[in-house]
Amino acid sequence: MNGALKYFGSTLWAFGATLLVAVLTGLVALWGHWPGMLAIAAAGVVALVGSALLAMRGWRSARMLDLAVEALTRSAQRIGQGEYARPVEERGHAALGELAEAMERMRSRLRQSTIHKDYLRSILDSMADAVFLTSPEGVVKTANAAACKMLGFTEEELLGRSIVALLDQSVRGDFDLLQAAQDTRETVVRTRDGQTIPVSLAGSRIETDDPQFQGNIFVARNVTDRKRAERRIRYLARYDTLTKVANRMQFQHLLQQTLARGLRSGRAVALLYLDMDRFKEVNDTFGHDTGDRVLEVLAERLIRTVPQAAILGRLAGDEFALCLHGLPAETDNRVPIGQLARTILNEVARAFQLNQQEVFLTASIGIAFCPRDAENVIDLIRNADAAMYHAKQNGGNTFTFYSPEMNAAAVERLILKSKLRRALERDELVIRYQPKVELATGRVVGAEALLRWRLPGHGDIPPSRFIPLAEETNLILDIGEWVLNRVCMDYRHLKTVGSEPGRISLNLSLRQLRQASFILRCRSVFRRQGVSPAALELEITETTLMADTKNTLRLLKELNAMGLHLSIDDFGTGYSSLSALQQFPIGTLKIDQSFVRDVDRNAGNATLVRTMIEMGRSLGMAVVAEGVETASQLQFLHAAGCDQAQGRLFGDPCAAEELLALLKRQGSSGAPFGHLLRQAEATTRPA
Ligand code: C2E
Ligand code: MG
Ligand code: MG
Repeated sequence: MNGALKYFGSTLWAFGATLLVAVLTGLVALWGHWPGMLAIAAAGVVALVGSALLAMRGWRSARMLDLAVEALTRSAQRIGQGEYARPVEERGHAALGELAEAMERMRSRLRQSTIHKDYLRSILDSMADAVFLTSPEGVVKTANAAACKMLGFTEEELLGRSIVALLDQSVRGDFDLLQAAQDTRETVVRTRDGQTIPVSLAGSRIETDDPQFQGNIFVARNVTDRKRAERRIRYLARYDTLTKVANRMQFQHLLQQTLARGLRSGRAVALLYLDMDRFKEVNDTFGHDTGDRVLEVLAERLIRTVPQAAILGRLAGDEFALCLHGLPAETDNRVPIGQLARTILNEVARAFQLNQQEVFLTASIGIAFCPRDAENVIDLIRNADAAMYHAKQNGGNTFTFYSPEMNAAAVERLILKSKLRRALERDELVIRYQPKVELATGRVVGAEALLRWRLPGHGDIPPSRFIPLAEETNLILDIGEWVLNRVCMDYRHLKTVGSEPGRISLNLSLRQLRQASFILRCRSVFRRQGVSPAALELEITETTLMADTKNTLRLLKELNAMGLHLSIDDFGTGYSSLSALQQFPIGTLKIDQSFVRDVDRNAGNATLVRTMIEMGRSLGMAVVAEGVETASQLQFLHAAGCDQAQGRLFGDPCAAEELLALLKRQGSSGAPFGHLLRQAEATTRPA
């Protein structure tokens, strides 16, 4: 029963009793005709009315208090239930006003801190990283949504677990909670379904004096993608994407370890350095994609051929290296390693199928041993490389073991390169002319201009040694222009003194032809020197022709239109097909000396040379045989119908003055090589 009712009850009882007394007093007064008593009764009624009025007022105020208390009670209940949004109900009761205000202040403070708490929670849950709040001992007290998502547990399931228990078994042993709470480390967590996830775990301690809030915050970030990218980058950085074997860096790294192990255990290591012969020509002829395919196939063949424990790497373009370890140190390993090198060369020599065409390639291998030839990676590679260079110098398709003199050759190459730059200024280049002889008559009908470098202290350096260096440094452009000028000058001189030199040919390198201003430069030289382009011939190798055929065709047509005669040099050494050659305005085909060398002894080469001659003639070209050294070769060529020949049999390349003397002799006494031809004819004619 509330206060107002109690008050009303007791007031009603007092009122009833008073009314009863007043009525009884009134009845007694009426019955005894006592006016005094009547007055007392009236006074009682008045008092009664007054007290009724008073009671009414008291009841009302008690009612007000009741309502105010009820309102405060409701507000207190709401606050108790964590509902802080509605203000405390305040009924304007004076006595309870202070209490209501105090309650309102409390509600407002509670509401503020709840807003903060929710706000913090929503921040935690919207974080992409997994966050764990733990006790100082690492027991999880809060885990955000990302943490639950990453591990596959609900927050309730995570609460109470140790942060260490969330890690994968493999990393728990190394996990130091104290340390982890103050640094960032990479570790691995384990999900509900047993998956492992690499994470970067950043820990920090919660700094507070209040023991109930002390503990750690751990933020775990899933680094699977980064790890994958790292692995990929590491792979790309260490392995060659094309051939999937170790790249130079990784190979050197592995070689380094192998050498260290070998030196410790007293075992020898062999390094084989392999370089494809004339691989550039494959690229130039078939394009880089095909070149890449060759390297892929080559790597597959090497992997299949070499012992399983060997380390294979691609050091650059067409250079591969192979490391064999654990070899006996006290015995000579050259025999078994040489056998392996031979097997590799045989593998390389098997046909490569390129664009529906079978292509045969060769390689050169240089071999060096540790500790015999070198004890560190750099020297061992350099020595094997020097040996490889020697194998190449010996014609390729072979292997060579390193010997100390070989390094001197590599050093010399470097010195030559720097000296070549000054060769032009110092007038160290000279031209030699090799006569071209017409086989029908034995007459000199032209000459090939061949470059020599007269380096003081080194004698004559052959072009095979310095032209590649000149090409590497682009000096070939200046050198080529110098040659053209020199040949024009010599030609004019030969003509001025009354000789008939025929056509003088000069060799053109790919770099020169690719030079944007090549045609312009040629024209200006011819004009300046007053020589007709028709007096000259440009020798272009098959490989040069086939590189960028569209452009080459355009250039050659233009050169041909100027009156220049064009010939294919070293024919047979490239990979050009007959149909491809037909499109070029070529007037002469020069058979490479490697086919001519044993044409009289090797039936295969004889057939080949005969076919080349027939082919050239059927295309309307003149055919020239290079490197003719013997009468028997001449006899074969003559019988096969070759048009012209050049070579030692008719004389080594000589100075312009010597050529002039030869031409003069021809002018006065007829074909200087007529006798050789007559001999050849005599041998050919059936007796
Ligand atoms: P090539 O154009 O095939 O020149 C023929 C080479 O065969 C010359 O070598 C010549 O001396 C050599 N030779 C001539 N007769 C015989 C012989 O009876 N037996 C043997 N074994 N060899 C003979 P050389 O002078 O050493 O030139 C080598 C190459 O250097 C030339 O091959 C040519 O491709 C290039 N070359 C020469 N001069 C120049 C030049 O001015 N510019 C460019 N770009 N290349 C040049
Ligand atoms: Mg030539
Ligand atoms: Mg040649």
